This record gives sequence, C-alpha cells and structure tokens, in this order.
Amino acid sequence: MTDFQAMLRADLRGGSPYGAPQLDVPVAVNTNESSHPVPHDVVEAIAAAVTRVAPGLNRYPDREFVELRTALAGYLSVTTGCEIDREQVWAGNGSNEVLQHLVQAFGGPGRIALGFTPSYSMHPIISRGVGTTWVDGLRDASPDRFDIDTDLAVAQVREHDPHVVFLCSPNNPTGTALRLETVTAVYDAAPRAIVVVDEAYAEFARPGTPSALTLLPGRDRLVVTRTMSKAFAFAGVRLGYLAADPQLTELLRLVRLPYHLSSVTQAVALAALTHARTMLSMVEQIKASRDALVQGCTRLGLDPVPSDANFVLVGGFADARASWQHLLDRGVLVRDVGLPHHLRITAGTMQETQSVLDALALTLDQDG
Ligand code: PMP
Repeated sequence: MTDFQAMLRADLRGGSPYGAPQLDVPVAVNTNESSHPVPHDVVEAIAAAVTRVAPGLNRYPDREFVELRTALAGYLSVTTGCEIDREQVWAGNGSNEVLQHLVQAFGGPGRIALGFTPSYSMHPIISRGVGTTWVDGLRDASPDRFDIDTDLAVAQVREHDPHVVFLCSPNNPTGTALRLETVTAVYDAAPRAIVVVDEAYAEFARPGTPSALTLLPGRDRLVVTRTMSKAFAFAGVRLGYLAADPQLTELLRLVRLPYHLSSVTQAVALAALTHARTMLSMVEQIKASRDALVQGCTRLGLDPVPSDANFVLVGGFADARASWQHLLDRGVLVRDVGLPHHLRITAGTMQETQSVLDALALTLDQDG
C-alpha cells in the first residue's frame, strides 16, 4: 500500500484540515453564516441572471470580472463612505481564496506570516499551505484577555519582521473589533510587510467602530478583506473580496488561476449586489439577536465576550467539550474553538437564539 504520509510535503505532515462539522441539526449556529434565507425578490433576480448567462457558458467568463469589481467598489464606497475605486478591488471564491492569493504572492517558502491568536483558524492553514512560516503571536500577555495589546503586538512585529501580518476585526472567534490605532501602529512597525485586516464581520460592528478601509489612503501595504458570506447572507455563492493599492492588486494576477470566478458566480453576485439593501436588511435583527445572546448568557451565569460580530464567544463552561456535546444532544450545534472553558455561538434568528439559551440552561443544569 502506498505510504501517502511519506509522500506528502514534509511541512504538511501531521497537520489538521479545516473541519467545522456540517451536521443536519435543528439549530446550526457554528459557522457564523446568516440564518435568514435569501429574500424572494432577490431569488428571482438571481434566477433571471443565471438564465441570462446560461447560453454563454460555452465560453470562459470575464477573467477580469470588471463589472463585478465595479459593483463591489460601489458597494464599499456607499456602505462605508470611503471612496474605493474598481482598480483597488480584487475578488475570489470566498475571502479564503483572496487570503490565499495574498500569501501566494507575498508569503511562501522562506517567508514569515504573523497573526495574533486566537484568531481565524484559516490564516495559519492558508499561510502554511503555500509554505509560509507561521508565527503565532500573543494578543495579550494574559491568555484569557482577548483584546490586542498594541505595544505587545508592535514588539512582536519588530521581533519577527514578518512579510505578511494578519489582523482580524471584528476578530473571529473573540468577536471584538480593533481600534484603528492598533492597525496603524502594527503597520508602522512592519516596514516590509503586507498588513491584512480581515473584516469578514465588519457590517455587524457596533457604532463607533470605523473600518480599516478609512486607513487605505497613503498606506499602500495595507489590505482590507471582506466577504459576502456573513452580513450579506450569501455564503453559498463563495464570493470574497479585498480593497488595496491598485499596484498590489495587479500583482495578485500572477497567482490566480485563469477564469477563477465563474460566469455564474459573477452573474449571481452582481444580481445580489443590485439588491444590497434587501440583502443587508437582516443585519439589525442579527445584531439584536447577538445582544440578546450576550444578555441571556450573562443571566445564566456564563461569561460572554462583548461582540462586534454575528457571534459571541462565551466563557464560563467547566468543560467546554462536554457542554458542546450536551448542546448537540439537544439539537444545537455550536463551535468548540479549542479555547478552554469557551464556546463560540453564532447569533441566528431570535427564535434560534432563544433555543440556544433554553438548551444552555438545561445543559448547565446537567453539567452542574
Ligand atoms: N475571515 C474570517 C474571519 C472568517 O471567520 C471567515 C469564515 N468563517 C472567512 C474569512 C472566510 O469566509 P469566506 O471564505 O466564506 O469569505
């Protein structure tokens, strides 16, 4: 029998793939999707768009996805008030692919990527996947404090002198947004690095949390990534994007596969973007559901971390793994992110949040 482990690249041996369980349960609140289905009028627009492009599927799609980049630039400009130009925008099949393009171009063998854990688990996996050395930075000297200590971050950046720095705001799995001073301090401390601010959850931030997009002018090594998977309620389409200096985005063409965004993806994303207001209409409800989740968990004697996202990291479990299983036994799938005493819970519909809180109450009784 072939020993595939022996054949595998040495730096991948013993690694674990991304593995959020996909289970058929009544309340799936483990991957920070939107629980709200695509509204009917957008479904009709999507169907019409697919019908329009279907006869042309014998041809490759627009490799430069010009119309989609224009629409994404418009969306960012309107929703954030930052003037973003089409040439600043790049997109891929989910922001995961966009992040991969970044490390393919600016990381790789002999190069270093630095992030501040706990953060999005794919940052190290994507970096290592292209042979980049990953450095796990600390957010704070005390491991149970999740806000980034700016001075500590700057010191770690200076020590490792990385080629790519990952920041995540609001941060997954902790939920809190970064202060812009932290982003600029890290940027200034990393003169040879591409500094990526992963803003997958930006639309859920509480008031007074400006986007790092406001920092782009004059900072040509700064990249802000976004996705249609979360607030835009479009995870199944796989469309993520970024805004950065046009000369930087130009270089990403060196690593993308030709025609990486299918004609169907482009048409469907464009159709949804023309209904952006409808697609975003559930954001306020989701934020209310998140706040209800925080309050409910507090009432149950748990320790939720304040959140700017559509999920809450909840501390205070005696045995997080056991509680995860007991919640699943009650039809509620949450995320064990591997942090002792913590579970991460997505804010779904109000009804789902109530089901989560009911199941948590029973589970806490059971677990004592
Ligand atoms: N960044 C963060 C912080 C995330 O949590 C996720 C999804 N869980 C992504 C990026 C990737 O999302 P997508 O590929 O669907 O855009």
